[in-house]
Amino acid sequence: MHNNIVLQAPAVASQRSTREWQQADAEHFLHPFTDFAGLAKKGSRIITKADNIYLWDSDGHKILDAMSGLWCVNVGYGQASLVDAATRQMKELPFYNAFFQTSTPPAIELAELLSKVTPPQFKHVFFTGSGSEGNDTVVRMVRRYWDILGQPERQVIISRHNGYHGSTMAGASLGGMSGMHAQGGLPIPNITHIDQPYWWENGAGMSRDEFGKVAASWLEERILSIGPEKVAAFIGEPVQGAGGVIVPPATYWPEIQRICDKYGILLVSDEVICGFGRTGQWFGCETMGTKPDLMTFAKGVTSGYIPLGGVMVGERMAKVLIEQGGEFNHGFTYSGHPVACAVALANIRLIQQQKLVEHVHDDVGPYLAQQFASLNDHPLVGETQTCGLMGAVLLVKDKAKHQAFPSDLEVGMVCRGHCFGNGLIMRAVGDRMIIAPPLVITRAQIDEMMVLIRRCLDLTLADAQ
Ligand code: PLP
Repeated sequence: MHNNIVLQAPAVASQRSTREWQQADAEHFLHPFTDFAGLAKKGSRIITKADNIYLWDSDGHKILDAMSGLWCVNVGYGQASLVDAATRQMKELPFYNAFFQTSTPPAIELAELLSKVTPPQFKHVFFTGSGSEGNDTVVRMVRRYWDILGQPERQVIISRHNGYHGSTMAGASLGGMSGMHAQGGLPIPNITHIDQPYWWENGAGMSRDEFGKVAASWLEERILSIGPEKVAAFIGEPVQGAGGVIVPPATYWPEIQRICDKYGILLVSDEVICGFGRTGQWFGCETMGTKPDLMTFAKGVTSGYIPLGGVMVGERMAKVLIEQGGEFNHGFTYSGHPVACAVALANIRLIQQQKLVEHVHDDVGPYLAQQFASLNDHPLVGETQTCGLMGAVLLVKDKAKHQAFPSDLEVGMVCRGHCFGNGLIMRAVGDRMIIAPPLVITRAQIDEMMVLIRRCLDLTLADAQ
């Protein structure tokens, strides 16, 4: 199934010791989402090479990357066809823009291919450099659409607490992360948040299906309290990723779609994590049964080998923007970057050739679900959830009493530390331990990962007692 080249450790890696790398890192590099002083004291892990689903650090430790980098390396590391596509395109035409009535073959071909692999309502794409820029584009495009239709009062975009939509001003505003809103005076005006469909926290006394409908009804309540004529769109991730792999009840998304249709509100699916096979279909909206008007993508479109993002624009909106809109005053230097688009083409063709979506849907997705369910016998585990190749394990103090650990114990961080010490990358969101491994993972590699996960749960349990 793999067509990997084994990458040699970059020559520079051996030129300095780990300590020297850490020192230079602390002196000059301000890392994203990081307590700068804390990291400078502790020192970064220096990752020097990767192949398939594994990483190596500067001390030569092998690590199973159960997070696909940052939810992005869908085809796994070391895929020669992506490297070759970038090299060829760099030699042929390393850059040209798509402003001023020019275009390039890779951007055109990618736009064409995206219209084939995305749901049928999508025939047009607007390219960006990242997921955050994609969601900024969503805000501009949604408001422009209603302006053109003579309804400029439709300004409000409804989103969810604990959703994540990026880190630009509009992306962080759409997201519902309180820590991000607290820095920089966010959210920007006309963005409002409803509660998330997180059954374990908010669904006491209800079945999951009942709770799904109740959580969706919060959207209708908010629309009515604002006034439907002022609401432009609803945006959500099919499965909340950075919020902790919160898989909504099956009743949630169909009800959200019904409510959006009832009030004529645009539905935006943020597929930055869920796109390109992650949920076992090409896109998360297909898994959840919705028909969005806009779809943001990034990450898996190039498997993270090079930055690229964008927004798929459904025909309902594209027709208005194209036929009545005139000039759309928005775009980025790297919208349709030819090298990024060439890599995306190679990446999508590889997903098709290796049948990775089918691999997730029919084989490793159900296998992961079964393996994660088996963790419910562990005393620390309150619930497990999976969707395709995303999974969460919730660590709790007392599962019979449905009781969480006090947050100051930082049990998730303790577990994350054990994971890294044992050659496994899992992420902690509060006390939810989450994974999203490369789609090329095999059943044998899932077994290997489960042995490590159980070991880390046991070590965490010993610490928590
Ligand atoms: N939307 C979602 C659902 C994401 O998970 C992310 C990043 O993790 C973003 C948007 C932002 O993407 P980027 O970091 O490429 O700007």
